Amino acid sequence: MVHRRGELRFRSSNLQNDILIFDPDLTSDSFFNSRIGDQRIRQGQFPLFNDRNAIIGHLTVGISQEESAIVLHNLRNTLRIAFPLLLFVLFLATAIAASRGIAPVKKLIQAASGISGTNINTRLPLPENKDEIYQLAATINELLERVENGFQREKQFTADASHEIRTPLTAIRGTLEVLLRKQREPAQYEEKINRVIGEVDRLDAMLDQLLQLARLESGHVSVHRTPVDLQMLFRALADKWQPRLQEKNMELRVQIPPAASVTTDAAMLNVVLDNLLGNAIKYGNTGGHIDCTWQSESVALVLRDNGPGISAGQLPYLFDRFYRVDNSRNTVVPGSGLGLSIAKKLADLLGIQLSVSSREGEGTTFVLVFS
Ligand code: ADP
Repeated sequence: MVHRRGELRFRSSNLQNDILIFDPDLTSDSFFNSRIGDQRIRQGQFPLFNDRNAIIGHLTVGISQEESAIVLHNLRNTLRIAFPLLLFVLFLATAIAASRGIAPVKKLIQAASGISGTNINTRLPLPENKDEIYQLAATINELLERVENGFQREKQFTADASHEIRTPLTAIRGTLEVLLRKQREPAQYEEKINRVIGEVDRLDAMLDQLLQLARLESGHVSVHRTPVDLQMLFRALADKWQPRLQEKNMELRVQIPPAASVTTDAAMLNVVLDNLLGNAIKYGNTGGHIDCTWQSESVALVLRDNGPGISAGQLPYLFDRFYRVDNSRNTVVPGSGLGLSIAKKLADLLGIQLSVSSREGEGTTFVLVFS
């Protein structure tokens, strides 16, 4: 402690022979660094005041910075070793975690790369945790399921097509062989040759339909939409089917107002309706009737017959390629089972919802809803 006149009034025994720096010009609390010998110290100088607020002396204190310097020094040394070590441990932990996280993906890649056309029924193993990788594997499995189904359908189609083509060919060959075996009456020749011509026609019609299907499935079909007058369309269809209707003594009742019109591809819609009407006549009962109605509120065309109907169990397959209801019944009615699948594909292409409902013994109804 120093008096204002510069006299030293008190000095701590801790100082021994050392001296703290004193600056008489400092009139407020001040802190600064200084040294005592080799030691770094932090010094504070505080003025002391009397009752009249006049400086009567100064209090000067110092505290060694050596300990904090040692602490800082140790800390720096510790960090120099610990920081790289920590970084290394962190790197290792991240690498392990990443490789663990990526392991299921690697498994998926390995399993997926082993799937080909020959083992398309293989599915990817699902991870235990229901995370994003699980969802990815499940989605790929669903995709594989669809691809496999498509694959099976293609296989089935090829098998069905070759069977359907071979059937008339076998019949033609059999008939011709019978004719060759011995001399026959001209009437018999005529009858057998007519049968062969019938089979050739059937083959021709089927190849036409197969071509139509192939074209539709290739996706290279262009749609030309124009306003289509439904009354006119049905008038043309009625003219075309008139001879068959008369043969079966069937009545076609068309209830379509003159204003009924839809914007669609006229030729494609004609193929759809021609198929449905042709079927209604072909499978309809002799003396039966067919109703064609336009429902303007629902923008729908309804074709209803009072034919034999189709059982509920067979309805879901009706639009499948080569599907023929109750084959035994249809052996007498010629057909390939392709007409409705073509109609459905065309309707899908045109954005028309084609649906069917039926009751055995009562009749069948096809509805076309235009969007
Ligand atoms: P196809 O007439 O050449 O056999 P389709 O695909 O046109 O082939 O029809 C599939 C099957 O659906 C037919 O074999 C027939 O059994 C059944 N079917 C279609 N339309 C009717 C109908 N209006 N009434 C009863 N059965 C029908």
